[in-house]
Formats: sequence, C-alpha cells, structure tokens
Amino acid sequence: MDGSKKPDTAPVLILLGPPGAGKGTQARMLQDRFGLVQLSTGDLLRAAVAAGTDAGKAADAVMKSGGLVSDQIVIDILRDRLGEDDCAQGVILDGFPRTTVQAEALDVLLSESGQRIDAAISLEVDDDAMVERVSGRYTCGCCGEGYHDSFKRPTADGTCDKCGGQDMKRRADDTVEAVATRLAAYHDQTAPLITYYDANDALQRVNAMGAIDEIATVLGRIVQRMEAA
Ligand code: AMP
Repeated sequence: MDGSKKPDTAPVLILLGPPGAGKGTQARMLQDRFGLVQLSTGDLLRAAVAAGTDAGKAADAVMKSGGLVSDQIVIDILRDRLGEDDCAQGVILDGFPRTTVQAEALDVLLSESGQRIDAAISLEVDDDAMVERVSGRYTCGCCGEGYHDSFKRPTADGTCDKCGGQDMKRRADDTVEAVATRLAAYHDQTAPLITYYDANDALQRVNAMGAIDEIATVLGRIVQRMEAA
C-alpha cells in the first residue's frame, strides 16, 4: 500500500450501494491500487453455485430471482474467506453486509481478531439510472474486468483490454425483472445500514453518478486518509 503511515491492524472498508452503483468496479480499482483484497459475496456465491456446493445449491434460485440469500449462508461463506491469509493485508467488502443481521455478525467477527471497520462508503446513485447501468454491463470471463455497452467499451469489441481474453459474460440476474427485485431488496434491507454505520461514525457518502475515474479518485483519497490516520 502507498502512504507513509500504516495502521496497526489491516484496514477494513465496506462499499454500500444498490446494484449498478459501481461497487465491484471500484473495489477492483482499489484492490489494484492499494493492495487491499476485494471480497465480493456475490462472486463467492457464484463460485459456490458453479462448484455445486450445498451453499451454492441453496443460493442458486434465490440469486436468479434477485432476492437475498439467507444470512447464515452468506455469513459462513464470508467468515471462511476472511480467514484466508491474503486478507491480512486488508479488505474491501463488496456486497456485504446487506442486512442488519450481517452487519452485526461482521462486527463480532472483526472484534474477535481485534479489527474494526475503518470506513463504510455509501455509493449514492439515482434509482432511474440503475436499470440502464446494470442491464448494459458485462465482464471478461478470463480476468473479471468489467465493461459496459455505453460507459466502458473495450478498445476492440469482444476483446478484454486487460488480459486479451475473448470470453465476455453477462450475469443471469442482470435482467430487468431481477434488477427490480434487487433494487427493492436494497431499499428494504440494505439501505438501513447507512444509518447503522452513520451511528458508528464510519459512514462516508460519495456521489457515484459521475465518471468511473472521478469516483475512483474520491475513493482513493478516502483510503489514503484512512492509512494516514
Ligand atoms: P452481487 O454480485 O453483489 O450483486 O450479488 C449477486 C446476488 O448474490 C445478490 O442479488 C444476492 O442474491 C446474492 N448476495 C450477494 N451478497 C449477498 C449478501 N451479503 N446477502 C445476501 N445475498 C447476497
């Protein structure tokens, strides 16, 4: 990580925001720039579905509909991943917590290892723009780099700028129906966490309607301040 002063414990950053707010894109950029590890419960669950584990089998249909997977499954999967060695350098939680039960479980998990949340960043966007953002997006199946039909096309259509892969994928739950369900789940169950983290003095609000690089600059400043604190 850059910055002159390092924290005593590994930094823990949370990215909050509805589907399409840019959590995954920004988490990946912060990972590349600061060496923090991106922990996406959506990615972990998709891997569990692909591997056919019990958790994956239980999560599959719920994920396709756009609903939330049970707290216990997600907390277990997150706990296992957080315990892996690479997370000792600090993590960006992308898509977790999504409910108050998950937020409270995270507080307990972190306190067990003497850690705490350094910042919970709420990426603030307009609902109306979210359907266009989400339905136009796709990723490189080889390296996971994200693209968008309107906002971020690769230099050569169908070829990843980052790794040269030619296996672009769209998510099964990026349909208009599933996105509507995911937005509703966000407002009902995840948005209350903004108040939760505000009460814990961890909340930072960021306008996420601008260009990807501009938002990345703002988030980078937050991480730099966090490292210097
Ligand atoms: P994401 O990739 O973060 O958009 O997540 C994709 C889907 O995985 C969500 O729509 C949920 O079905 C499920 N999911 C991911 N993270 C969580 C979580 N923290 N709690 C419950 N369900 C989750």
